[in-house]
Amino acid sequence: MGEFDLIQRFFVRGPARRAALGIGDDCALLEGPLPGGGSGAWVAGAALAISTDMLVSGRHFFPDVDPRSLGHKALAVNLSDLAAMGAEPRAFTLALALPEIDEHWLGQFAAGLHALADEQGCELIGGDTTRGPLCICITVFGDCPLASALRRDRAEPDDDIWVSGELGAANYAVAQRYAGKPLAAEHPAVRRAEWPAPRVGLGQSLRHLARAAIDVSDGLMGDLGHICERSRLGAELIAELIPVDPCLSGLPEAERQGLALRGGDDYELVFTAAAENRTAIVALAERLGLRLSRIGKMKSGAGIVVLDHRGQPIHADIRSFDHFA
Ligand code: ADP
Ligand code: MG
Repeated sequence: MGEFDLIQRFFVRGPARRAALGIGDDCALLEGPLPGGGSGAWVAGAALAISTDMLVSGRHFFPDVDPRSLGHKALAVNLSDLAAMGAEPRAFTLALALPEIDEHWLGQFAAGLHALADEQGCELIGGDTTRGPLCICITVFGDCPLASALRRDRAEPDDDIWVSGELGAANYAVAQRYAGKPLAAEHPAVRRAEWPAPRVGLGQSLRHLARAAIDVSDGLMGDLGHICERSRLGAELIAELIPVDPCLSGLPEAERQGLALRGGDDYELVFTAAAENRTAIVALAERLGLRLSRIGKMKSGAGIVVLDHRGQPIHADIRSFDHFA
């Protein structure tokens, strides 16, 4: 049994009854009315987007990681789920298990956490603290209009598939460390792994341009696979259009491609959009100063096919990262 079967078997209890969107997307959505914007007015059709992500020492980060980057990353991976929903960050809670009190470590961790929280206007509103093996669990809350939330199940056949930024570097850094060949701390791939930049502004700008979205936490193939499953569609990707991080340019082509297709931890957004929105999406990329690449199309059917430059399918494992596989 894998991670997703486990959730399905023990925790999914049919369609959500009280939530507008329950288990199975980047965030759950609870329908408003909620206090709107800064005005304090009550707005119908608003939703509260909620997501939880846990980081466990030795599993999601190396125990000796710079605590400042860990504070940043713990919040960043959660904000990435809000971004994938098109939601605007509002607040978060922090549950922390610590083996001991280390004031220097805590000072650095908190500094990294608060710096990103301030930058994103997301406020720490509570949590829980206990002694135990180092584990950080954050729950974020964000706002988005219910009708334009970027769900995984809204893709349509012939939608363009887009991805933000560049892929593969974070996973390369992690893999090198596991292989006993750690990269230098200043290597751009290490920075990508330790200081992910959640695409929060992009997510909100895509509310009326994209149909479906997900963040790339477990690898492009696996995460696009979630859009395919939830939208009951397949996808076709063009290998040479997939943006590989330039810091990997020295690697053999097959390795670069594998990292870009399957590497996790990039926290870019994959989204689908109607072809008529191409010009607007290109203009958005310009405005945000962020690369947005059109990498393929949604198709009827199931599964993801990756085509090489001759239009031949290349073999690629599409499974998402699974903690129990
Ligand atoms: P993400 O990568 O965006 O964090 P996941 O792939 O981890 O999402 O989870 C898939 C879906 O399953 C999400 O909607 C998540 O909220 C839900 N989920 C994960 N674990 C549990 C659990 N123990 N109980 C209920 N829902 C869960
Ligand atoms: Mg996600």
